Amino acid sequence: MRIETLIVGPLQTNAYIILDEASGEAAVVDPGASGLRISDAIEAAGATLKFILTTHGHADHTGGAFDLQRKAGGEYVVGEGDRGQIESPSSSLAAMIPGFANPPAIDRPVTGGEHLEIGDTRIFVIATPGHTPGSVCYLSGQALFTGDTLFQNSIGRYDLPGGDGDQELQSIRDNLLALPDQMIVYPGHGPSTTIGEERANNPFLQGV
Ligand SMILES: [Zn+2]
Repeated sequence: MRIETLIVGPLQTNAYIILDEASGEAAVVDPGASGLRISDAIEAAGATLKFILTTHGHADHTGGAFDLQRKAGGEYVVGEGDRGQIESPSSSLAAMIPGFANPPAIDRPVTGGEHLEIGDTRIFVIATPGHTPGSVCYLSGQALFTGDTLFQNSIGRYDLPGGDGDQELQSIRDNLLALPDQMIVYPGHGPSTTIGEERANNPFLQGV
């Protein structure tokens, strides 16, 4: 399994391409903008897109999904709790994203506990409500894609519509900090980190 990172859109969202090299199948996490650029990168890798994975419904994580699916296909996977934000982007941050296109129809709603497969690579869905009601993280091997739930030295905002700070901390404590220290965290914005580093150093997680 190989991971490529593309930084897209005005909020510098990390769009991740997960490649299962043996099968040539791929998944994309959070195509926040520039769907065509992401589709070009998949084509350049000679890969077939199976899944477009959304960590949550905010526009800076979904703005490129329409173009990406139109060019490269793939099932659109969204946390059920964020269905409203996907289907009515006016309630999200869409106005901030130049060239924003409404996300495609949801092909596969998830609630946590499911897994998806690209070749022999399994991608597990972990429910982490708090930043939004339907926020999920995706785990594959040693890689954890955390969207706006967990960042290096920070956590996601919970003052946006549908956010809940207590729930967010509970999600991180019960479902993310329970993972091994060496797990690599790929957040929705900013640099990668590890669960161990965040457990030790993240100022928002001390004493939780
Ligand atoms: Zn967000």
